[in-house]
Amino acid sequence: MQSDLIQQKNKKKLIKNFEKVFGSNKNLSVFFAPGRINIIGEHIDYCGGKVLPAAIDKGTFVVISPSSKKYFSCFSKNENDLVNFTSKEISAKYPIFWVRYLMGVLQHLQTKTKISPCNIYIEGNLPLESGLSSSASLLLVLSWALQYLSDFRYNENDFENRKQTALVCQKIENQFIGLQCGIMDQAVVALAKQNNVMLLDCEKFELEWLECNLGEDTFLIVNSNKPRSLIESKYNQRKQETDQCLLWLQRKMQITSLAGIPTEQLEEALSFIPVKTLQKRLKHQVTENQRVKLAYQQIAAKDNIGLGKTLKESHLSLRENYEVTGKELDLIFDYSIQNKSVKGVRMTGAGFAGCLIVLLPKNEVENYQNQIQGKYQAATGLKLSFYSTTFTQGVRKI
Ligand code: ADP
Ligand code: MG
Repeated sequence: MQSDLIQQKNKKKLIKNFEKVFGSNKNLSVFFAPGRINIIGEHIDYCGGKVLPAAIDKGTFVVISPSSKKYFSCFSKNENDLVNFTSKEISAKYPIFWVRYLMGVLQHLQTKTKISPCNIYIEGNLPLESGLSSSASLLLVLSWALQYLSDFRYNENDFENRKQTALVCQKIENQFIGLQCGIMDQAVVALAKQNNVMLLDCEKFELEWLECNLGEDTFLIVNSNKPRSLIESKYNQRKQETDQCLLWLQRKMQITSLAGIPTEQLEEALSFIPVKTLQKRLKHQVTENQRVKLAYQQIAAKDNIGLGKTLKESHLSLRENYEVTGKELDLIFDYSIQNKSVKGVRMTGAGFAGCLIVLLPKNEVENYQNQIQGKYQAATGLKLSFYSTTFTQGVRKI
């Protein structure tokens, strides 16, 4: 497997980097968790919808070793920060924000088993706060490494263990970090299969796999390089708005989640929502669920033209009904649809800024990049980054 060859190469370098911070050590283990793109089904995981993500071969590496000290030591290369803390200092209000992800994992594991002090080196090659789920990647790789080190429920090949770890990481993000996210990111980072997209029913936690063969086309990731903070962004507000919609609708309809509203009942459901803005939120929820079904069929049928059209419709709904796209993502969308070789484009992840995915022929990637870079730079003063996609498997020891 080519992606694992690359990781074996990385391993030596990672160990060297660990040793620069913590000194040499024979008892080292190395782990990797991928990031992800979401092909379609955006902002519907926290409303029980079905989503269609895939893990990518960029992610977060952790090198870990037991330590004889009385405190935990962790270093993030991305943050260029070495932090030491004792078990007593673990808190959701810890002043260094990124350390809270590790503390959330430790706090949870400490209720299950004994976790002894250790040295942890973290290095990611995903852009942070950009919609490719560096947060779930970080949480899963830390959980996996610490479960391994403490010999707690560690089993590389056990579906149930991966599922439970994903659920715990979602809880940490909800309760420790303060982001009311759904289960999509953690589930795909934990469970992804190589070359596959994952159809996940977020209400029932049921999965279906679909091999993704795009033929002459590919998904290119475009990073607007305009980061955003989800905690400060309107993410939690959207969650509250949809909770309110559900409350109103449950007085009139027999549903357990917004995903339970069939497209045919959209007009009726809208008539039960007294606030115009929330009608738009509901419209996105119901139509996006429908688009996920359609996109799944289009990937299965290798209908890339149809798939591209569905992706564009998704972006437009996120822009007009859900209002989570923002100036930079819309500019890139508008430039992209003017390019004749582009079959489809949409924001991926929570939005507000961050990344988009573009479906286009492999041999047009370079032309597209050249064309769009100049226009975007002239309009915003920002430079785009581009990443190719290979769909990889979930968190693992390497
Ligand atoms: P996304 O998941 O889209 O990348 P989030 O805002 O959910 O964006 O999570 C990003 C946060 O996760 C960062 O601000 C940082 O606190 C933390 N994080 C992710 N990767 C790393 C890393 N390699 N080192 C330190 N912190 C990280
Ligand atoms: Mg995140």
